[in-house]
Amino acid sequence: AIVLNGVRKSFGANEVLRGIDLTIEPGEVVCVIGPSGSGKSTLLRCVNLLETPTAGTVHVGGVDVTDPDCDIDAVRRRIGMVFQQFNLFGHLSVRDNLTIAQRRVLGRSKASAVEVARANLARVGLSEKAGAYPAQLSGGQQQRVAIARALSMDPELMLFDEPTSALDPELVGEVLAVMRGLADEGMTMLVVTHEMAFAREVSSRVVFLDGGVVAEQGPPAQIFGAPKEARTAAFLKRVL
Ligand code: ATP
Ligand code: MG
Repeated sequence: AIVLNGVRKSFGANEVLRGIDLTIEPGEVVCVIGPSGSGKSTLLRCVNLLETPTAGTVHVGGVDVTDPDCDIDAVRRRIGMVFQQFNLFGHLSVRDNLTIAQRRVLGRSKASAVEVARANLARVGLSEKAGAYPAQLSGGQQQRVAIARALSMDPELMLFDEPTSALDPELVGEVLAVMRGLADEGMTMLVVTHEMAFAREVSSRVVFLDGGVVAEQGPPAQIFGAPKEARTAAFLKRVL
């Protein structure tokens, strides 16, 4: 499980996270929604310590990643992350984008890394693009490659930060379909998204973040159908 306990994060005088308690069980798909600036990205980045919490603890699979003695590289190896910007290596083919970290970080042989890459490109529907370069792909294809690259590291948890926000509208669906497939396979996922239909249909739980606190959380049917908090209702009214 991923367990955040009293997580706070300040940038200078700006306290962005103000005491987050959140548990994500294996196999759960948790969508984080909330206004711009509410701390969604910061929350996600605290899970793999791209940001260091100012206070509180984060446990990933029983390991306290906020303990200074923790081997954070070992923890990060178990967590895949996909960003709004795809961050592919432009000078490498799709295949090499998928094999480089497998070889350098996991020490896999070339043959086994290529085989894992092949399997994961098939998983995202891009088997025919192994030899292509990122610039030759659409945004939706590039994001699916980024997902396949993360999956090639055999993560126990996938973090997504608005993975479809940089895409043209007609390309959003193909990326969400891949994410839906992962959810169906039982992948543990923490997803920051503005795609309310995805949150409603795919997530096991929706977390509404507002002003750096979890204002409300619950099953999607409850959050979207009968929010308990006035600010959840007001937010949903704005975005739906
Ligand atoms: P959006 O929906 O626009 O992506 P968000 O909910 O992801 O917003 P964050 O990116 O977590 O919000 O930012 C929350 C607040 O923290 C903002 O006020 C932002 O300016 C501030 N912030 C985030 N990262 C940093 C940083 N590295 N240094 C200083 N301030 C930061
Ligand atoms: Mg953000």
